[in-house]
Amino acid sequence: MMTRVVFLSVAIAFAPVTATAASCRGNPDALGTARTIEVEAKSTPRVGRKQFPSTLPLQAKELVLTFDDGPWPGTTPKILDALKNECVRATFFLLGRNAAANPQLARRALAEGHSVGHHSYSHPLLDHMPVAKAEAEIDRGIAADEMALYGERRTTPTTPFFRFPGFASNGPLLNRMSERGLVVFGADVWASDWERMTPDQELHLILSRIERLGRGIVLLHDTKAQTAQMLPAFLRELRRRGYTVVHVIPAKGHGIGR
Ligand SMILES: [Zn+2]
Repeated sequence: MMTRVVFLSVAIAFAPVTATAASCRGNPDALGTARTIEVEAKSTPRVGRKQFPSTLPLQAKELVLTFDDGPWPGTTPKILDALKNECVRATFFLLGRNAAANPQLARRALAEGHSVGHHSYSHPLLDHMPVAKAEAEIDRGIAADEMALYGERRTTPTTPFFRFPGFASNGPLLNRMSERGLVVFGADVWASDWERMTPDQELHLILSRIERLGRGIVLLHDTKAQTAQMLPAFLRELRRRGYTVVHVIPAKGHGIGR
């Protein structure tokens, strides 16, 4: 294990945005996905400065888009449509119970090239329960997601990305995730889309927060109608303001349990 090359595998594929846009059929003005970075728990066990000391190695004006709590009928399809129209690849953190109820939507996200990680089964605050019980809840979620995505009920995730519901973690749980090779995602900026607001208010709020920060992991919820409504305008505005999107994928051969 010690001899394995350990690195934050940053696939430095600085593909020009224009090249991505050119391959985005039907939308020459698409935002596109500028580059992809690979992450693994050994070198980047936790990312997102709202919760942790460090985040992904993003350049100025680079954003990673993430969506939590789906898949959800009515809103997730709109989110996927908007991302597809702009050739943007994002990361979805599924709730197991929603993946079990809507497996076709989970598989659609996967088929359209997004990263699909895990967010527990039913969204409890995991830091408020014994570690074993919390881990059972995490595993139940992973198993439901894997079943929906790949037809196999297993607790070794194909994409070892996890986000704690409500960011409610603790030392022992974070250690367990590291031991299991799961990268824990926090966030750098969010839209507060769990609060009621109009799509236009949400758009202005998230843009102002992004402008203040300049880069980072953006947290949105694909279960929220206001987010689904504002997303097309949000993506257009990001392009207009010179932002680019980075897609995060697991490092090849992340080697958990295989
Ligand atoms: Zn959540």
